[in-house]
Amino acid sequence: MKTLADLRRALEQLDGASYGAYKRLRGAWRGDDVDVIIDRVQGDPFATPSVVCVRVAAPEYGGHETAPGPARVALCDLLTRRFAAHVRGSARSGSGRSGDVSIDVGGPAMLARSACDFVDGALELRLRVGLPARGRRILGRAAASLLVDHLPRAAAAMRASDIERSDRDAWREAALEHAALREQLRERGLVAFVADGSILPRRSGASLDPLPGAVPFEAPASLAVELDGLHGPIRGLGIRCGITVITGAGFHGKSTLLQALAAGVYPHIPGDGRTLVVTEAGAMKVRSEDGRSVRNVDLRPFIQDLPGDRSIASFETDDASGSTSLAASIVESIGAGATTLLLDEDTCATNLLVRDARMQALLQRDTIVPLVDRVQTMHRERGISTVIVVGGSGDYLDVADTVISMDDYRARDTTDDARALCVRMPTTRTTPPAPTSWGDSSQVIQARSVGPRRDGKGRAKVRAMGLRDLRYGDETLQLDGLEQLVDPSQVRTLGALLPWISEHGDAPVRDLAAQAVDASSRMGLYALEGAPELAAVRPLDLAAAIHRLRSLRPA
Ligand code: ADP
Ligand code: MG
Repeated sequence: MKTLADLRRALEQLDGASYGAYKRLRGAWRGDDVDVIIDRVQGDPFATPSVVCVRVAAPEYGGHETAPGPARVALCDLLTRRFAAHVRGSARSGSGRSGDVSIDVGGPAMLARSACDFVDGALELRLRVGLPARGRRILGRAAASLLVDHLPRAAAAMRASDIERSDRDAWREAALEHAALREQLRERGLVAFVADGSILPRRSGASLDPLPGAVPFEAPASLAVELDGLHGPIRGLGIRCGITVITGAGFHGKSTLLQALAAGVYPHIPGDGRTLVVTEAGAMKVRSEDGRSVRNVDLRPFIQDLPGDRSIASFETDDASGSTSLAASIVESIGAGATTLLLDEDTCATNLLVRDARMQALLQRDTIVPLVDRVQTMHRERGISTVIVVGGSGDYLDVADTVISMDDYRARDTTDDARALCVRMPTTRTTPPAPTSWGDSSQVIQARSVGPRRDGKGRAKVRAMGLRDLRYGDETLQLDGLEQLVDPSQVRTLGALLPWISEHGDAPVRDLAAQAVDASSRMGLYALEGAPELAAVRPLDLAAAIHRLRSLRPA
């Protein structure tokens, strides 16, 4: 193999050459203990920077830290942050992105990322590096000092001996404890757990940092459970299987609690406040998304009649309403394998949530069966639990197994009060008959229809635009409904997995999503596309993205 000394020589010889000559340097260059692999070379100094991998051959981490699983994800998360701090503000000069070095650091959720991984015991950091130029001429000496001196030195500082033991332990324990608590949920009859002392609110709607001075969470005694933490029992709120209603007056912390539960499917970094908020992996937050595309979804559990001759058993629209979009998302999520649904009245069409007696009487032909009439059968027949925030309709008190009231950011158990009320003030609503179908999720999808369609210019561009939009061929895939995507790098992963699926066999959406996520974790996210800014997604979210493709077709 060529060495870093060869790379230095080659760069010095290329000094002043035209930028395209950088392409000749692609490949691996061996150093004493850090190798530099130039994987992709940008076309010009102003283009998206090149992809460079630095590999530390003997990073000296113990096997318990680097075995595949949560501990490794946590260590990589920490190293990515450390490396970013190390290269921040490094000297850059020249045109365009010359000398820019960046690594894809995540937010507070710890996710497997293509930016950092262990491969055969070696630590690999995958970076974006702007190869230096003046005008469009190669700055060979600057490139040599960047690629041969600076980056290998920064990578070498990621060895075990250079990263504080206390941080490594804290990160690993956050991930392992999350996993350990999650394993205890089902055996304790729970779908989620919120430890006492957790800080749930964020600093603002635009920040993922914990809110300073927030009221720490505390479980009411009647709903408190103790789970086994790594260092002893941990007390907190156990959200039981079945139907949980979170209620309370406005601005008292209802949505904040539900959002924390939604985020609880991921482990969080130390200091986030939500490290001990744990939700089962199959929990799916659903909401209304009017305007979304719906393809072949069986809405019969919720819709009994539609104007015209529209099929309800195989409902299709390019422009769903608030209620039909929510009904579709519920049926799709169950089909994709969700085990708990999380809903917030703030983002759900009321007419799919409830229907009071007076409205039932007025609407001669009631076309919608509201969720309140379905949650119990959904649990009995399909084992699906529901956690719903409702402050506006007492009808949910009839069907709730547990009622939690948020009062001044404090949780109270008002289940007994609610029961007594239901006896004292019985509802006059009539309950519609049980559904005849729960939606058919075994329908085989044309894998090809999951691929990006060419636009007018014959191109099939795929580009993530922030957290909620994915340019996908000739359409923009809107992901507003996928609230459990927490990182723009997850959207990029969706943009890589969807085309991957389109090249594999036809199958039901649930299987397509599971296979794709499984394959990407087996081969490593980096191998998926050679992009250093991809983060892991759940099969449930990938399935939800597939369902929203306007091009989706049954086989
Ligand atoms: P609701 O859904 O009940 O109307 P939210 O959950 O939206 O209320 O919370 C209202 C406000 O209170 C938000 O600005 C939120 O950040 C803040 N908040 C929520 N929980 C806490 C807490 N434990 N301590 C301090 N502020 C909180
Ligand atoms: Mg709210």
